[in-house]
Amino acid sequence: MINKLAIIGIGLVGGSLARALRHSGFVDEIVGYGRNLENLKLAVDLGVVDHAEARIEAAVRDADVVLIAAPVGAMAEVFSQLAGKMSREAVITDVGSVKTSVILAARETLSQEEFARFVPGHPIAGTEQSGVAASREDLFQDHQIILTPEPDTRRDAVDTVRVMWAAAGGVVHILDAEKHDAVLAASSHVPHVLAYALVDMVVRRDDHHDIFDFAAGGFRDFTRIAGSDPAMWRDICVANSEPLMALLENFRQDLGDIMQAIEKGDAQWLMDTFQRARHARDTYVKPAPSDSPDSTE
Ligand code: NAP
Repeated sequence: MINKLAIIGIGLVGGSLARALRHSGFVDEIVGYGRNLENLKLAVDLGVVDHAEARIEAAVRDADVVLIAAPVGAMAEVFSQLAGKMSREAVITDVGSVKTSVILAARETLSQEEFARFVPGHPIAGTEQSGVAASREDLFQDHQIILTPEPDTRRDAVDTVRVMWAAAGGVVHILDAEKHDAVLAASSHVPHVLAYALVDMVVRRDDHHDIFDFAAGGFRDFTRIAGSDPAMWRDICVANSEPLMALLENFRQDLGDIMQAIEKGDAQWLMDTFQRARHARDTYVKPAPSDSPDSTE
């Protein structure tokens, strides 16, 4: 049980976790903090949080758990606002989609003692929408939650965060932060870059109206994630640039090979490549957990 949970950033993810934990009865009191007062009022009106604070130090006072659900690009600023303001036993965690840069920011800003109570986390769940109005209590149901504790992270803090996510319906895994960033670059960050690039390439053509008019399911499926928040994905690309750039370079080379095969009319090479890809997709890509929105992560 958590007595008081403070959520910094009451948007889609922060709001959804608040709803899930309230539904499970795992938390007594939920306080929200954000910069936009209208958004905070909406979070209270929707019953997502019990009350909201316009000052971060008031929000985290006496909180047992402080959850940072702000954009990745705002994490360093949030850590510096939080340092020295939380209770001496508060467990701190986050939901940022990139882990090594967030951990670095926390290490540089929090005291050693605070950093030991910081459990980096990332729920592999989301939708193209953002904001508290889009939050839902089943967002994490049966979805994977990755925690990336450091060697100096306190075990009891990890246990608190693990139990919290389990109460929200998530399936918790522990992973090394660098491994997390490399894996998510391939499974999530590259697909988002490609989806944005494809739609942007099409819309800059003179005949884009025709292309969109006649777009079928394949185009819709492939580009669904280009409906995600551009600011969030800008932050993720910048924060995870190293693994992302390595994969995009790989991709550029492979695309070059495919273009050559098409130019040469090398049907066998294309067949082998497409068959290998289809077999891999059929073998490894699991269906989404039932009754939950299609994840963007
Ligand atoms: P969101 O709906 O836009 O919510 C972000 C919230 O953060 C907003 O309510 C915003 O409120 C607040 N915020 C922004 N800058 C802030 C700052 N400097 N200080 C304090 N609060 C700030 O975004 P989201 O989709 O929930 O994403 C939040 C985090 O979850 C991101 O780190 C993202 O990488 C991660 N994540 C997202 C998904 C997804 O699919 N959406 C999935 C997994 C993880 P104010 O503007 O009022 O401050």
